[in-house]
Amino acid sequence: MADRPLIAITGASSGIGEATARVFSAAGHPVLLMARRLDRLQALSLPNAVLKQVDVRDRAALAAAVADAESQYGPVDMMFANAGIARLGDIAKQPPEEWDEMIDINTKGVMNSVHAVMNGMIARRHGTLMMMSSIAGRKVYPDHTVYCGTKYFVHAVSESFREYLAPHDVRVIVLSPGIIDTEVLDGVRDETTLANYRANKEAIGGGISADIVAELILNAYNLPQKAIVQEIVITPTRQK
Ligand code: NDP
Repeated sequence: MADRPLIAITGASSGIGEATARVFSAAGHPVLLMARRLDRLQALSLPNAVLKQVDVRDRAALAAAVADAESQYGPVDMMFANAGIARLGDIAKQPPEEWDEMIDINTKGVMNSVHAVMNGMIARRHGTLMMMSSIAGRKVYPDHTVYCGTKYFVHAVSESFREYLAPHDVRVIVLSPGIIDTEVLDGVRDETTLANYRANKEAIGGGISADIVAELILNAYNLPQKAIVQEIVITPTRQK
């Protein structure tokens, strides 16, 4: 049994979620790690880790994973609602199925993640919700149409959750990264969009490591519960 509180992370099988799992685990936290690729969660080999094959679109599976982890390690003190996909592309040519997938995972998935822990945090008057948005939740790009829509959604609900939860002493932090080196673009099928993205990335000297984002998340979490960084905007220095 670890002496630090339990941290739950969706999308912990790669990228920012994986880096955050490693950083919190190294800081002594038990972790509830969720994603569809269970083999990738297992490969992390972290101590005091509850690994669950969870699709964030499945509200019941999320709630069951949280209940099981809490029975072993006590209440979830931070939910990092991180899981997301970026099917960037020309909106006039993009199959609408890609819109559906982004909307379901990036918006409803975040809501489901919050729902699994929110009432416990309210009852304890303690907890942190870390909501994954993006720089694309603050400004728009022509080939990010639905992705931007989902991330603006996360920004909007985070603001509303913060207003609602502040009197209950629950912190809501919205995270807005710029270009981070992860697998996030692996699912992009629009070659022109991909080429433009890569050219822009190269022009600013490349993206930054997910480890930097993970350290920032830990630092924000470690502030006294009475203090909150409301939004974390982290980009490569040359990204505008
Ligand atoms: P990755 O593709 O490396 O990670 C995405 C994670 O989300 C994976 O662990 C994946 O796991 C998980 N995931 C995707 N769909 C689901 C689902 N239906 N249910 C459960 N888990 C799911 O990319 P990033 O680390 O970059 O992405 C993490 C978040 O950061 C996303 O929300 C993304 O939009 C956001 N972001 C990323 C930026 C970047 O430049 N990299 C910039 C701004 C925001 P699995 O496939 O195993 O289910």
